[in-house]
Parts: sequence; C-alpha cells; structure tokens
Amino acid sequence: MIVESKPGRVLVGRLPHGSDLLAELTRVAAENGVLVGRVEAIGAVSRARFGYYDQTGRKYVYLEREEPLEILALVGNVSLKDGGVFVHAHVTLADEAGQAFGGHLAEGTVVFAAEFRIEELVGVELRRVPDKTTGLALWG
Ligand code: ZN
Repeated sequence: MIVESKPGRVLVGRLPHGSDLLAELTRVAAENGVLVGRVEAIGAVSRARFGYYDQTGRKYVYLEREEPLEILALVGNVSLKDGGVFVHAHVTLADEAGQAFGGHLAEGTVVFAAEFRIEELVGVELRRVPDKTTGLALWG
C-alpha cells in the first residue's frame, strides 16, 4: 500500500513540563487539524512507559522506567483511527549511564522538557483499520 502526499504546514514548539508526551503530541496535532503527518521530538522525561509488541501473543507488553531519561529520538506519524487523530510514535531513551532502550511510546510518559516538530502531509487520508495478519491497526 503506497499513497502520495505533499508537504503541508510545519508546527514546531515546546511541550508543557509535566504533561503526558503522547497525549500532548496528539492534542497538538488534533487542535491544529493535522490529520496526516510526521512527528519528531527530543528532550527529556521524568518517567517513561513504552511497549513492545508480542508478535506471538498479539498484544503489547508495557515497560515502565521511573527515573529521569533523555529522549534521544522520537519519531512517529499522525493518521486517523476510530474517527480521531492518532499519533503512533517510537521513542529511544537513555538513562544516566547513557544506556539506550526504547519502544512503542505509550501514555504514562511524563515530559520534563520536550521540543517537537510536526510536519503535516496533505492530499492523502490515512486510516488505521484492524489487520488480521498482525493483530495491529494498520493503514488500510
Ligand atoms: Zn508502534
């Protein structure tokens, strides 16, 4: 499945201290009418929650880290799911020893400071639908 899109607006900004990283990125996209796009961010979080998809069990297993962490990279996209704006993001984090880890960003990751960039893509509509092969909600 391939579709062609064109660059739209580019939103840049800073997320509020103490906000939920995933919920806030979703709010920014939705409130600015970004229905399809690309998301990136760097910064730091005070705690993190991220998932790993168990391909056999077909469910996310969530990991939590209750400590200050650097956001080395957050990359994701914006599309529609269940009629609403949905941000799918993966995050690479590092602890105080510089050890990196990460996964599928989940709610429960709290912003210490974060700078984001959301690039809107226009001329295309992407909707997530259930995929029988993987058990995931993928672009249909
Ligand atoms: Zn994911």
